[in-house]
Formats: sequence, structure tokens, C-alpha cells
Amino acid sequence: MSYAHRLDGDHRIKLEDFDPGEDAGLKREQAEKKTTQIIEELIELQELLYATRRQSVLIILQGRDTSGKDGTIRHVAGPLNSQGCTVTSFKVPTEEELAHDFLWRVHAQTPRAGDIKIFNRSHYEDVLVVRVHKLVPKEVWRSRYAHINAFERSLADSSTIILKFYLHISKQEQKDRLIEREKDSTKSWKLSVGDWKEREYWDDYTAAYEDALNECTSRRRPWFIVPADKKWFRNLAIAEAFRDALMPFRKRWLEELEEAGREKRKAIEEYRRTRKQAE
Ligand code: AMP
Ligand code: MG
Repeated sequence: MSYAHRLDGDHRIKLEDFDPGEDAGLKREQAEKKTTQIIEELIELQELLYATRRQSVLIILQGRDTSGKDGTIRHVAGPLNSQGCTVTSFKVPTEEELAHDFLWRVHAQTPRAGDIKIFNRSHYEDVLVVRVHKLVPKEVWRSRYAHINAFERSLADSSTIILKFYLHISKQEQKDRLIEREKDSTKSWKLSVGDWKEREYWDDYTAAYEDALNECTSRRRPWFIVPADKKWFRNLAIAEAFRDALMPFRKRWLEELEEAGREKRKAIEEYRRTRKQAE
């Protein structure tokens, strides 16, 4: 059973049909133990991915303010080898970025073979915040779903494993987290009046997210809805979906490494033999 809800695009979903507080009946300690085990598996899978350099992995994290994008990166990506796993955060576009098409800055950050890239926000902002705040005309953002699909398909065709997570929190939980942030001086860097202002557009964001999730999901580049009111459940659900996406490659990667090892040993033996003959 999977904890995150994978959208294969077979039918349209509505966010209200998913409970942000879901925890599959697990207790916190149980979930954390499972997460730790899964991360151990992920560490091994990352090594194989990195060593074989056949596939790359792109993980996209989207969600409203306070939904836990940073926390996910800390808990799930933190334990991985940072030589092969990096994060790109997409902020308000610069003048230079705005002078290009919306995918320009994104394409430049996609992972190379063997690497894992985590996007903290992504090209989806261009059909979310941009739509909600009418930063471009409707015809422009409407056309972007097709551009996004073509772009992601092209990445998938060049062996990128794509996973997209929508961190689903409730309006009440967001309020609690925003208030909590104000009390915690170590989180003051995250404080922004903008977050309270964005909250006023809650329903507009819901509509924008529903379209992004419905228009841009498929088996090869699925969206997952992640119940995110409980941080420990969110971490478990994402770690599990991540592990499950890589696991089918494990056998092939191991075989390939074994084969490469055999060839290299042969080359070394060959070298030694010719050296001996020369002496
Ligand atoms: P944070 O993730 O809290 O650092 O905030 C980054 C901000 O950049 C968010 O308010 C995003 O909505 C905004 N942002 C990211 N991408 C875009 C974009 N393409 N257009 C406009 N705003 C964006
Ligand atoms: Mg923020």
C-alpha cells in the first residue's frame, strides 16, 4: 500500500476529496521507524544510480506556504550523498529570467545522468502564482500546461525519473504553522506578511492546483498528493514513493555494475600480463 496518492490522470480529482490529516492509522514513532528504514534503502539506491549514470531523478516539491517543502528536503534528501543530490529553489523570476520563456531557467537546472535534483517550487509556479495573481494573460498560462507536458515528456525520454509531490495541508494547519513561526525566533527568517496575504487567495490556489495536477500527470511523470498536516506522515509518504520509483531499477543497476567491474578487471589483468612480458 502506498501512503501518497498517485495520480495517473485517468480521471479528474478534486483536492477536497483528499484528507490532509491522513496518517493511515500509524503512530508517530512507527512512521519514523519506517521512514528511517526506507531512507537506508534510498541511500543504497542513490549509490547505484550515481555509479551507473543511466538514469537521473527529478523530484518536484510544490505546496502552499508552510506546507513543508523545506522540511521534506531536510528529512528525506538530507541523508543522501550531496555529491549526487542537489536542491534548486525557484523564487520570483529575475529580470533576466523574465526576458526568456518560462522554462528557460528550469531546463538549466535539470539533473545530469546519475544525479538527483530536487526542485523547491518549479515551473508549476508559472501556472499557480502567475495565474492567481494574473501576472500574464489567461491565454498565456493556459497554453503552459501543454508546454509543461512536452517539456517533462522530453526529460522522461532522456531517462529522467520524474516525481512530483503536492504537499496537501489544511487551511487550519497553515494558520497554526504561520502563528507558530511568529513565536519561534529561529524561524523569523521565514516570516512574511506575504504568506498571510496569499492565504486570502486560498480558493484560487485550490483551483489552480487542481488544474495543474489534472492537466499534467501521467504514469511516467506522476503527481502525488501527499497528506501533509502531520509532518512525520508526509516524510514517510514521500520517502516511500521515492524508494518505490527507484527500486525497479535496482537489479539492472547491480547487473550493470557487475558487468562493468568484470570488464575493468579484465583490462587490469591484460595490462599486468603485457607488463610482465616486457620485463
Ligand atoms: P519561498 O519559497 O518562500 O522562498 O518564496 C518564493 C516565492 O517566489 C514564492 O512566493 C513564489 O510564489 C514566488 N515565485 C516562484 N516562482 C515564481 C514565478 N515563476 N513567478 C512569480 N513568482 C514566483
Ligand atoms: Mg515562503
